[in-house]
Amino acid sequence: MTTQISKVAIVTGASRGIGAAIAKQLASEGFAVAINYASSANEASALVVELRQAGHQAIAIKADVSNAADVSRMFDETEAQLGKVDVLVNNAGILKVLPLAQHSDELFEQTFAINTRGTFNTLREAATRLNAGGRIVNFSSSTVGLNLPGYAVYIASKAAVESLTQVFAKELRGRNITVNAVAPGPVATELFLHGKSEEQIQTFAKMPPLERLGQPEDIANVISFLVSPAAAWLNGQILRTNGGLV
Ligand code: NAP
Repeated sequence: MTTQISKVAIVTGASRGIGAAIAKQLASEGFAVAINYASSANEASALVVELRQAGHQAIAIKADVSNAADVSRMFDETEAQLGKVDVLVNNAGILKVLPLAQHSDELFEQTFAINTRGTFNTLREAATRLNAGGRIVNFSSSTVGLNLPGYAVYIASKAAVESLTQVFAKELRGRNITVNAVAPGPVATELFLHGKSEEQIQTFAKMPPLERLGQPEDIANVISFLVSPAAAWLNGQILRTNGGLV
C-alpha cells in the first residue's frame, strides 16, 4: 500500500530501448513509474531493481497493449500500487521493414494491432482514468514524413497515431489534459538496428544535418519536457524529434 505523493506515469514498452530511457528519466524527475512490457520480463525486472535501488518508485506490468483487457488491467494495477495516473507515454511499438507487396495479412494485422490499436486501447482507458492536468504522449515516426520504400505499413500505422493524437486532444476538452506525439527519426535501438548492415546504419546516421543517430536519451529529454509544467500550452501537436532529418 503506497500513499500517493509522486505523480504517476505509465510508460508502455519500457523494458528496453526508448521506453526504458523514458522510464529512467521520469523516475529521476520524481515520477512513480509503471514499466509496461509484453515479453521482456527480465529486462523490465532489472530496470525496476535499478530504479528502486536509486530510491525511485517503480513497478513492472506485463500487458500486451494490443489487448484491451490487458490495458485495462495495466491501469488497475498501476492505480492499486502507485495511485491514479498523471502521465501516459504510448511508446510500445514494432517495425518490420518489408515492401507492401510482400506483407502477409498476419504482419499487417500485427503492426496495426500493436502500433495503432495499442495506442487506441490506452487512450480509451486514459479518457476516464487520467488525473486532471495530465499528459499523454503518443509515438509516431519521422518515416511518416520521409515515405521510405519498405515502410508503407509501419508508416500507415503511425500516421493513424498522429490522427488519434490530434482528435483526442480536442475530445479531452475541459479535462486539462494535453495529448501530443513525438515522431523520432532513427534511434539506436534494437527496433532500428535489427537486420540493417553497418553501411545502411551509417547511411541513416548521415541523413540529418546533425549527422548522427538519435539516442534513446534524446527522445526521453523531449518527453520530459512534454510532461512538464513548461509544456502546458503545447497540445495536439506532432513533434519530429530527429536532428533535422525531415
Ligand atoms: P524497441 O527497442 O524494439 O523496444 C520496443 C518496446 O516495446 C519493448 O519494450 C517491447 O517490450 C515493447 N513492446 C512491443 N510490443 C509490445 C506490446 N504488444 N505490448 C507492450 N509492449 C510491447 O523499440 P524502440 O526503438 O525503443 O521504439 C519505441 C517507439 O519508438 C516505437 O513506438 C517505435 O515505433 C518508435 N520509433 C522508434 C524509432 C527508432 O529508430 N528506434 C524511430 C521512430 C519511432 P517486449 O520486448 O516485452 O515486447
